[in-house]
Amino acid sequence: MMTIKDVYERFEKLHSYSFATLDGDYPEIRIAHFLTYDEEGLYFMTMKVKPFYEQLKRGKKIAVCAQVTKSDGAATHDEDGLSYFPAGYNIRVSGDVRELSTQELYAKAKKDDRFIGCVKDLERYPTMTTFVLHSFKGELYDFDFEKEFRDHKIERERFSFNGMDFIEPGFVIDPAKCISCGICAEVCTFAAIIPGESYSIMGSHCDECGSCYSACPATAITAKAPLDEVERKAIGKQILAYARSQKS
Ligand code: SF4
Ligand code: SF4
Repeated sequence: MMTIKDVYERFEKLHSYSFATLDGDYPEIRIAHFLTYDEEGLYFMTMKVKPFYEQLKRGKKIAVCAQVTKSDGAATHDEDGLSYFPAGYNIRVSGDVRELSTQELYAKAKKDDRFIGCVKDLERYPTMTTFVLHSFKGELYDFDFEKEFRDHKIERERFSFNGMDFIEPGFVIDPAKCISCGICAEVCTFAAIIPGESYSIMGSHCDECGSCYSACPATAITAKAPLDEVERKAIGKQILAYARSQKS
C-alpha cells in the first residue's frame, strides 16, 4: 500500500498539476501543487480572493491528477495517426479537504521544517491560506503501452488514506460461469488474464477496457459499468474478429 510520503513524492516529480473542484454542478480545474505532507495529509495553498478558495470552502472536496513520462511529453503519431504514448505514470487522488487556521499552520511550522515554506508564502501574500487533503482515495497507474521496458502494458495500484473506501482495479471472472474457452486471453492486449481451470484476471494489469467482458461467450465477466446485452455481444464479435485477424 502506498504511504502518504510515496503519494507526495510521486506528485513532486512534477512541479505543478491539475486540481479540480466543483463550482455548483460544473467542474472547474486549475494548476497548483502540494507544498508538503505529514501524518494528517497533503497540503496546498490558495488565496482567499480566488474562486478556487470559494469552491473549496463550499464543496470541501478536490480531485488532483498528474502525469509523468519518460519524454518531454510532446505528442507523436504513427503512420495510422495513432498516438504514441511514452512510458510513464499518472497518479490521481480525490477526497475531502479542510482549511487550517493561521495558528495551526504556525504551530506545525514550529515543530516541522516542511511547513516553513507555507509560512513564508503567507507572509509574502497575506491573502494566502492553507488546506489539507485529509481523507482520500487514489490510484497510481504506471504505463508502458509500447512494452519498451517490460512485457506488459500497465501496473496499477489503488490506495486510500484515513480509511476512505475504494474499489480495487480490474474486472472479475465468475469461476462458476467460466467454461475455460480461453477467448478472454485471446482478446486481452494487457496480459491481464491468468489461464486455469477457471480463468481469472490480474487486477493490477487490467485496464478495464472491456474486451474480455464483451467477447466472453458465457457472460462470466462482470464489468464495472455493464453494456446492454445486445450491444455487448455485437462488440464482442467485432473484438474477437479483430484479434484473430491480427494473428493471421
Ligand atoms: S472467455 Fe469467459 S468463459 Fe472463456 S475462459 Fe474467459 S472468462 Fe472463461
Ligand atoms: S478488461 Fe481489458 S485489460 Fe482487463 S482483462 Fe479484460 S481485456 Fe484485459
